[in-house]
Amino acid sequence: MIFASDLDRTLIYSRKAMGAAFEAAEVIPVELYQGEHISFMSPEASRLLVELSKTALFVPVTTRTIEQYERIFYIRETFQPQYAVTSNGGNVLIDGVPDPDWQRHVNEALARSEDAKKVIEAFDRIASPEWVKSYRHSDNLFYSIILDREKMPLDQVEDFRKELAGMYWNLSIQGRKMYLVPNGVSKGDGLLHVKKLAGASRIAASGDSLLDESLLKAADYAIVPRHGEIYAAHMESGIYTFTDREGMGAAEDLIAKITEWFAAPPASIEDADAAVQAANDTNPQISETRKPFQP
Ligand SMILES: [Mg+2]
Repeated sequence: MIFASDLDRTLIYSRKAMGAAFEAAEVIPVELYQGEHISFMSPEASRLLVELSKTALFVPVTTRTIEQYERIFYIRETFQPQYAVTSNGGNVLIDGVPDPDWQRHVNEALARSEDAKKVIEAFDRIASPEWVKSYRHSDNLFYSIILDREKMPLDQVEDFRKELAGMYWNLSIQGRKMYLVPNGVSKGDGLLHVKKLAGASRIAASGDSLLDESLLKAADYAIVPRHGEIYAAHMESGIYTFTDREGMGAAEDLIAKITEWFAAPPASIEDADAAVQAANDTNPQISETRKPFQP
């Protein structure tokens, strides 16, 4: 069994993202950057994850570069993940070391997407210092761009998204960052590689941004925080199950739900689906979707 999870704004939160309910609460510092703690986890989320890790393989899956991932000392020290997917699927770490087989595969897959230089040239045609603060080519795989979100020209960005699709690249906006990512690199592909390496059968996953959709699709059970890009795009579509709470409380909710899902024997999942469906029929506010279990 694998629990594959996005990190930022799914399991760990900046002070700004944790939400009012946690502002005065005691939280665990998890990331150190330039001498300061900048990301946190709730003690309850940590406790639940420690418990879950006793029976399921916890696989962190992040858009962070390897270097940015390594800053999260708490995950490393507490959970010692055997596998992690970083760089939005561009790297699979085995005991902290990039898997060369996966790197070869990614390089082949990248050849199908437009050259990174051409992509940033196209972006430069809509970019202006008014709303684009800086950008970098992360791990030589994708661009992360720092924005002034309020000044971002929405129509031009949506047109650019379509232009990118023709170049086999994707666009995702999270907080004050925009990511431009080639199609050959995805969190879901990275996870399926880990599934093979670990010889695992059932996967539960969680994530909050559009870059997490491939991860959720690769799982047998998926749950999404009640905030972020996916929630904004799909709150009414019924495709995803959402946590009850937004902000840092979402981390506690989703680990608890996934623990329940792992505890249920696969054969009873169809029955559970029927029960959930009956509950949804009487209370349309609860949107619960479960994918059928596939061995
Ligand atoms: Mg996230």
